[in-house]
Amino acid sequence: MAQDIMRPSRSCPDILTPLPPAALTLSGGLERPIRASIDGWILGAVPYHEFSRVFREGRPQFAVGEMWGKFVRSGCMMYRAFPEPAIRERMREAVAEILAAERPNGSVSCSPPEAQPDGPGGDLWERKYVLLGLLEYYAQIERDPAILLSMRRQADAILAQVGPAPRTDVRDLGWSPNRVESSTLLEPMMRLHALTGEPRYLAFGKYLVECGGAKGFDLVQMAHDNVPPRLMGGIYPKAYEITSYFEGLADYVRATGDERVRKAVLNYFALVRDREMTIVGNGGADRPFFPKYGGETWDDTAHEQTNPDIARMMETCTGVTWMKFCSHVLRLTGDCTAAEAMETYVYNGLVGAMKPDGTGFSYVNLLDGVKSTNEGWGCEVNGFLVTCCNLNGPMGLAYIPYIAVMQSAEGPVVNLYNGLEANALTPSGAPLELSIDTDYPLSGHVRILVSPAAPETFRVRLRIPSWSGKTAISVNGALRHGPPEVRPGSYFDLRREWHPGDCIELDLDMRCRRIAGPCGVNRAGDGRAAVAFGPVVLTRDEHFDPHFNEPADIVADSDGFIEAQRILPPPVGSRLAFGIPTRDDVITMTDYASADCWNGSRIRTWIPRPE
Ligand SMILES: [Zn+2]
Repeated sequence: MAQDIMRPSRSCPDILTPLPPAALTLSGGLERPIRASIDGWILGAVPYHEFSRVFREGRPQFAVGEMWGKFVRSGCMMYRAFPEPAIRERMREAVAEILAAERPNGSVSCSPPEAQPDGPGGDLWERKYVLLGLLEYYAQIERDPAILLSMRRQADAILAQVGPAPRTDVRDLGWSPNRVESSTLLEPMMRLHALTGEPRYLAFGKYLVECGGAKGFDLVQMAHDNVPPRLMGGIYPKAYEITSYFEGLADYVRATGDERVRKAVLNYFALVRDREMTIVGNGGADRPFFPKYGGETWDDTAHEQTNPDIARMMETCTGVTWMKFCSHVLRLTGDCTAAEAMETYVYNGLVGAMKPDGTGFSYVNLLDGVKSTNEGWGCEVNGFLVTCCNLNGPMGLAYIPYIAVMQSAEGPVVNLYNGLEANALTPSGAPLELSIDTDYPLSGHVRILVSPAAPETFRVRLRIPSWSGKTAISVNGALRHGPPEVRPGSYFDLRREWHPGDCIELDLDMRCRRIAGPCGVNRAGDGRAAVAFGPVVLTRDEHFDPHFNEPADIVADSDGFIEAQRILPPPVGSRLAFGIPTRDDVITMTDYASADCWNGSRIRTWIPRPE
C-alpha cells in the first residue's frame, strides 16, 4: 500500500469531549450500583488470576482468553472516575501477569505461535481484548513505555499474520458463521494508531474497513445503505460483535474523516436505536427470525419486544457495547438521542441486569418471565461461572461518569441528572465547578450550581429527555423557560454571563405514561402496554403481586398519561412503586431495574389487555 493513503487527509474532531479523569465525582443514585460492582466484583469475586493463566496453559474452550482484557479495561475505566489505590494495585498485578505471558513472536495469545492465528479458537478476538485492556491501563493508570512496546509487538504480530495474501484473510478467522468477531480488531488498531501515529496500524484499519467486517457481508456499505440490522450477517447478525466493529469504525472516522464510513456509523446508530432497542434500552432476541442463537442476534427487537414467544433476549454484552457505541456517536456529533439511549439503558437494562450485591450480571434479560439468568457462554473458574456478560456489565457502569457531564467548545453539557461534582473548564479555559443536587429519578427536580472562577459568558447545555413534555427551567429563581422554547428530545442552551454560585433549577415532567406495545410479525403481541415514570420502566413483580401475570386494562388519558398513586415507602426490594389504575382495579408496579429474579421469580412488563 502506498504511503500517502496511510496519512489521514483530515481527522474528525469530537463535538463533545469527556471531562478529564477524576474530574467528576458521583454521589447517591447511580453511584450505588457502581460502588456495588467495584466492591463485589472488581475488588471482590472476580477470579482474575485465572484469566491470565489461559495465556500460559492454553484455553479450555474457544474465546476464553477474552476475559483478561475485559476485566482490566473495566477496572481501568472504573479507576478513571474512582481513582482508588486498591483498584490500581489489582490492575497493576493483572497487567504484570499478562506481560509475562508474551510469546517469542511478540504475541500475547492462548495459542502457541505455530497455531496462530487460531480461527476457531477465537484467537484474534482474545488478542483484541488483551490490547484493549492494556490500552485502557496505559490511558488511565500508568504510561509505562514497556507496555506501549508490548502493545506494538502484539499488534505487529497480528499484522504479520492477518491481511491480504499471503497472510490470512481476517474474514476467514473466527468461530461464527460469518467470522464477524475478528474484524473487531479495528478498535485497538485505531486506538494504537492514535497513540503512536504509526501509519501501519492505520493501514491495517483501512484493510479491516475495506473487508467490510464479515465474510460475505460488507457491513459498512450495508449500514451506509440503511439495511436493517437483522439483515446484517445472514443467519448470524450477532448484535454484540457487529456493534464492536462499529465502535472501531467510529475511531476510524475520528482518525480519517472518511465520509462514507461516517455515514455508515451514524446510520447504524439510528437503525439500531429505532429498530432494535426495547423500552429498557437493550436489544436483540431469539424470536421471530433467529431462534438458534440464544437471543444474541439483531431481530427487529424494537418491533418484536412484545412477542410472547421470546425466550431469550437483550444480552448484557450487547447493551454495554451499544452504550459504548452511543458514547462515540455522542462525542462525534453531540446528538442528544445518543445520551438518551444511554440513560434508558442505564436506569433499566443495565442496573436491572446486575446481581444486587454487584457480583455479576445476567447474561440475557427478559421483559416478561424470569428476568435474569447466568446461563450462556462462559467458563467455570474456581467453582464460579464467569460469563462474557459478568465481565462486560461493569464496563457499562464505568461509562456513567464518562458521559454524565461533558465539555463542548461553548461550555459544559449535562447529559445525566445524578448527584455529582464536576470540574470543567469555561470556553476561555478558566476553571468551572458544576454541582448537581437531585434525587432524580425518584423525582424530576434537579438543582445545578454553576461556579466559574470569574464571571464569563458561555452556554450551559441541558439534555431534555424526549418523554419530558413539560419541562420548567429557571436561573436564580427568576428567569423562566418552558415549552415550546424547551423542546423534549433536545439540548436546551442557557447562554448568559455566569457568576459563581448561579443556580439552575430544572423540573422534568415525571407523569407516569402508558406505552403502547408495538406489534411485529407475531400478532399475539398486539394490544400490550407498558408503564414508565420518567426514564424508569415499571414492571409487575411476582414478589409484590400474585396476580402479576394477569391481563389488565391500564387507564390513561388521551395523551397516555396515567393518574398513578405513588406508594411511599416503596416495598422493600424496590426503589419506586405506584398504584396504577386499571378498568376495574388498581395494580402495583415497581421499577424494572430493582426486580430481583435471581431466585427464579417472574415479572410482567408488557401487560396484555383482557379479551
Ligand atoms: Zn455476554
